[in-house]
Amino acid sequence: MTNFEETKKQFILPEGVVYLDGNSLGPMPKNVSDKLANVLYDEWSTMLINGWNDAEWMFQPEYLGNKISRIIGAEENSVVVGETLSVRVYQALSSAIRDTKKRKIILTDSGNFPSDLYMAQGLLELLNDQFELRVCEPNEILKNLNEEIAILMLTDVDYRTGRRHDIAEINKNAKDNGIITIWDLAHSAGALNLKLKDWNVDYAIGCTYKFLNGGPGSPAFIYVNPKIIDMIKPSLMGWLGHKTPFDFSHKYIPGTGINRMKIGTPPVLANAALTASLQIWDTINMDDLRSKSIELSERLINGLKSSCPNLKLASPTVAQDRGSQVSFYFEHGYPAVQAIIDRGVIGDFRSPNIMRFGITPLYISEKDIDLAIDIISTVIQNSLWDKPKYKKRKFVT
Ligand SMILES: *Cc1c(COP(=O)(O)O)cnc(C)c1O
Repeated sequence: MTNFEETKKQFILPEGVVYLDGNSLGPMPKNVSDKLANVLYDEWSTMLINGWNDAEWMFQPEYLGNKISRIIGAEENSVVVGETLSVRVYQALSSAIRDTKKRKIILTDSGNFPSDLYMAQGLLELLNDQFELRVCEPNEILKNLNEEIAILMLTDVDYRTGRRHDIAEINKNAKDNGIITIWDLAHSAGALNLKLKDWNVDYAIGCTYKFLNGGPGSPAFIYVNPKIIDMIKPSLMGWLGHKTPFDFSHKYIPGTGINRMKIGTPPVLANAALTASLQIWDTINMDDLRSKSIELSERLINGLKSSCPNLKLASPTVAQDRGSQVSFYFEHGYPAVQAIIDRGVIGDFRSPNIMRFGITPLYISEKDIDLAIDIISTVIQNSLWDKPKYKKRKFVT
């Protein structure tokens, strides 16, 4: 049984703060600063350019990829790390789109994250709109899968409501219809017990700064099913995805396996922080994590149900249909979240009216949830949000 009291001790969290925003930016694990200092002073400053070889900076993308593959239930050597998630969305889609034969429809749903949709739109414009981006409702995916669909591109967990797809079922149906699948795991990796290998997903992508606690702007990851990787043309043909980058040949030859999905120079400092952050996952049983997340989520939902009847649950009521966050609709959501943050409970707001609370068992306990219930209830029952200072919108909400 994973010991969540021990995992909590491995994070730095300000005194008196209940951090319910780890779905947006994970907090800093204590071992990150030593790791960064190590890379700064024992590697960069002393090894200089030799660090690429001697400190193996160049191999961070696959080293970290293998750490992540275990967290998402994927095969060894099926994941690499680098770039941002938006770029990885583009990379997956632009690689998949080469293999669509005569099919012309990319299916997604209205619960997808805007950046994923924008990336798709940008690519389709570039391809002179030969393809159609079809956006259906999240509960209508199965009935929209047919032999006209080329690619199914979905985000597993809805960033606003936490509504979660059944990847196993949807992916199976898609594959039965000959559809290429791309799953965005931004709010799933490190939150759910994923089994990519069993599910036979084609592509998956995700970020590391949310539930994986890699730090602000930490790099994204991409998974490609080992059964197809050797047939994939990467589309974003960066030099580090080349079979032999240091031959500096003018002709692109894709690297072996997942290596071909590398693009450019690894962000060494960010990768160092991520290396430290991912250590904790060696001790985590994902079934334990998921049960604890459900337990804490139910506790928050039930605690607020009676005390705050005017907060309407935006997340699915059935635990299995939720990711690892709890969201509420509230007309005055923005100022309410600011007033709650002011009192030490950090959540966030998503336009137009959603209050979001991330549930992260690695560092959130029952006690934290109870404190959050108290503070949220006090703010809502007494309309403490109704002050000009809470209504002024900041850029990042
Ligand atoms: C967080 C998130 C992103 C963010 O992309 P970046 O390129 O890292 O800014 C993209 N897609 C989804 C589904 C997300 O949840």
